[in-house]
Amino acid sequence: MRPCTAVVLAPLALWEFARLDGPPVTVVGPWEPWQRCRIALWHRGDHASRFGDRDDDPDHALWLLWSTGGSPRIGWQRFCGQFTPGRDDVCTFFSGHPREHSWDVVDPAVERLWRQYKVNGAGFPKTVRGRETGG
Ligand SMILES: [Zn+2]
Ligand SMILES: [Zn+2]
Repeated sequence: MRPCTAVVLAPLALWEFARLDGPPVTVVGPWEPWQRCRIALWHRGDHASRFGDRDDDPDHALWLLWSTGGSPRIGWQRFCGQFTPGRDDVCTFFSGHPREHSWDVVDPAVERLWRQYKVNGAGFPKTVRGRETGG
């Protein structure tokens, strides 16, 4: 399943407030004002993007939540934590999220990058790698 396409403009002040007011948090990825919903396409309820991880509690993460056309808000949510049948991956969405688990939601652009990364090995172009190992 592909991810939802909803995006929202999240003011930096919102995250700054959470960081100063709440428990210690490490932001996920570089700060981007436009946040994209991570839940599976055509989900019910609020859109959601993981904002940050809690430093002192690995079971919770800071999420940005918004309804279509509404203003974003932030909230601490417990992780879903559902394993794949083979238990080799765990869901990184929040507990009680709608639709598929995170390991069933695939962004085609990210998938393409991963394929390139695997083909090229450690992210180096083949030519550079050939020179390194063949010389
Ligand atoms: Zn959404
Ligand atoms: Zn899940």
